[in-house]
Amino acid sequence: MHKDIIKAMEKYADEENIPIMEKKGIDFLCKFIEKNEIKSILELGTAIGYSAIRMALTSKDVKITSVERNQDRYMMALKNVKACDLEDRITLICGDALDVDIKEKYDMVFIDAAKAQNINFFNKYKENLNKYGVIVTDNISFHGFVESKEEIENKNLRGLVNKIRDYIEFLKNHPEYETKFYKVGDGIAITYKKEDINE
Ligand code: SAH
Ligand code: MG
Repeated sequence: MHKDIIKAMEKYADEENIPIMEKKGIDFLCKFIEKNEIKSILELGTAIGYSAIRMALTSKDVKITSVERNQDRYMMALKNVKACDLEDRITLICGDALDVDIKEKYDMVFIDAAKAQNINFFNKYKENLNKYGVIVTDNISFHGFVESKEEIENKNLRGLVNKIRDYIEFLKNHPEYETKFYKVGDGIAITYKKEDINE
């Protein structure tokens, strides 16, 4: 049963500190996919396949390609996708999302990989959107650190949080794209092409 496999993935991610989407975040995203009849998704950052499987289960018409650079996680994702019988609708690629060459276009690009690289992912993959396509980015809030006014002691964490702040500014000031920010899960941004919404 899908439900049991999903539960087991949530438990595994919790125990092994694998940063899968928060429940409320993935629920929100699945509803968004259904409502907007999104059929093709490119995901950056598969981890163990949790969000890819959840998104694929929204409808039999949904197809997903997902990229993961960590070999062990990629292998685990393969196993989980197989256990859910979704190999025909979820294609997994093992590689660095900044290096792989993907020519297809998608209704949605979902950025959920290395947070410091968000601007680079955005710029690389904005060309892979179909007309009316959207770019969704997870962890825009990063456990509340992004909005927090307090000084962050840990240097690595501070660097990462500042990168996410830079990305938010980049999205807000982009001349060609418009972004809505949702305080759900760990913070989700949905970006639209202005020329698509102003028609
Ligand atoms: N989307 C998943 C969670 C992804 S966690 C879910 O919600 O279920 C982020 C993942 O991105 C990690 O597994 C990490 O190995 C991977 N990652 C980070 N940088 C990457 C890159 N440049 N290319 C591909 N994968 C990357
Ligand atoms: Mg995430």
